[in-house]
Amino acid sequence: LRANFSVIQKETGFVNGLIAVLHDITEQEKIDMERREFVANVSHELRTPLTTMSSYLEALAEGAWKDETIAPNFLQVTQTETARMIRLVNDLLQLSKMDSRDYDLTIEVVNFNQFFHRIIDRFEMSKSQNVAFSRMLPEKEYFVAIDPDKLTQVIDNIISNALKYSPDGGTVRFGFTVKDGFMQVMISDDGMGIPKENVDRIFDRFYRVDRARARSMGGTGLGLAIAREMIEAHGGRIWAESEEGYGTTIFFTLMVEPEESEWE
Ligand code: ADP
Repeated sequence: LRANFSVIQKETGFVNGLIAVLHDITEQEKIDMERREFVANVSHELRTPLTTMSSYLEALAEGAWKDETIAPNFLQVTQTETARMIRLVNDLLQLSKMDSRDYDLTIEVVNFNQFFHRIIDRFEMSKSQNVAFSRMLPEKEYFVAIDPDKLTQVIDNIISNALKYSPDGGTVRFGFTVKDGFMQVMISDDGMGIPKENVDRIFDRFYRVDRARARSMGGTGLGLAIAREMIEAHGGRIWAESEEGYGTTIFFTLMVEPEESEWE
């Protein structure tokens, strides 16, 4: 709702009337506003690494290249920033494809237990932090019709976040339950958590609870927005529950294949 106020004033300077016109911001205006905000965000996200690179390159050009201790450092910074921009542009391209529905899901029927274990294994093998993994997957095997690459990307993103925000000695928990033909997957951490009022916003494009901190960890702010698009394209839902100071759980749902399926 937006309000326009006009003050009716006589020459004396006394206010003797007030007209308020209230009207809904139309759907179109809302879309325009979101688009403007999106463009502003993209510009900002690209300008920041470009500005950093520009000043480091300038310093190198002005003589820092001769300094054997400083130069490799400065080059490292420009490399990190380039890598970030590539990630950002790739994420943007992916979102734009999804917006224009210019993509196909390559659906396969997959044993979800096996699929999930393999992704967790990959993280467990390569993690460098002191974080324990706890798997609470059912013994019984369930099958889902998914695009395995897309779903891998979703789960990768959630696990990377869980690790990013896990404290030293923390535990990341993995599980899923099945009820009424739906599977509910959960990945939780005991990290810093997210303030209640922001929990739903983490799936918005470029939303970060702590912008500076999230950027310093190399994120683009688009990972969960992409995850939401992908889960919704599979007919599922994704959401978060979090308690500040205690941790965060990300949930998503998928339809499970009927039990007596020919695939089993
Ligand atoms: P980013 O690239 O910043 O990680 P995401 O879309 O993946 O972008 O996440 C958006 C924001 O949600 C993050 O910047 C962070 O503030 C918050 N967030 C996501 N996962 C967690 C988590 N497990 N614990 C705490 N905060 C999280």
